[in-house]
Amino acid sequence: MEKNAKVVIIGGGVVGCSILYHLSKFGLKDCILLERNELTSGSSWHAAGNVHVISSDPNISRMMAYTIGLYKEIEKESGHSVGFKPSGGFYLASNDVWILNGNQKDVIEKAIQRKKLGTKIYLA
Ligand SMILES: Cc1cc2nc3c(=O)[nH]c(=O)nc-3n(C[C@H](O)[C@H](O)[C@H](O)COP(=O)(O)OP(=O)(O)OC[C@H]3O[C@@H](n4cnc5c(N)ncnc54)[C@H](O)[C@@H]3O)c2cc1C
Repeated sequence: MEKNAKVVIIGGGVVGCSILYHLSKFGLKDCILLERNELTSGSSWHAAGNVHVISSDPNISRMMAYTIGLYKEIEKESGHSVGFKPSGGFYLASNDVWILNGNQKDVIEKAIQRKKLGTKIYLA
């Protein structure tokens, strides 16, 4: 095994693998990932695979949108299915208080923004 590297990533869960993937994509060659067990054998192994599209935090929303696009890109690059099956989901507002609550209002505004960006969102 290499004894030196410019970047050493500890942990081969989804975060470590994503960092390695992106560093390589941006042209960094001298990086290694150390995993004490099997790749993804930590929390990533157990994740249910839910991928949300809306968050009250715009940066998280952007990251979610990027991730969904990235799955398609990885399938194209690798020729392998990543097994991503977008099934949709819904937010249920049961009363006006829920809708007008700061965070949820923000979520609805984000939904409207995402709709403008092309995500299929239906507000009723
Ligand atoms: C039951 C369950 C369901 C979940 N469902 C979802 C979901 O539907 N959607 C969602 O977005 N998130 C979900 N999550 C959360 C998600 O799984 C985690 O946020 C994510 O996997 C964390 O990734 P990670 O790379 O940070 O950590 P991990 O996947 O835990 O990876 C850390 C890795 O580091 C390695 N490691 C640790 N210490 C060392 C060391 N000293 N040297 C070398 N290697 C080391 C471990 O072996 C492990 O492989 C779920 C989590 C659980 C437990």
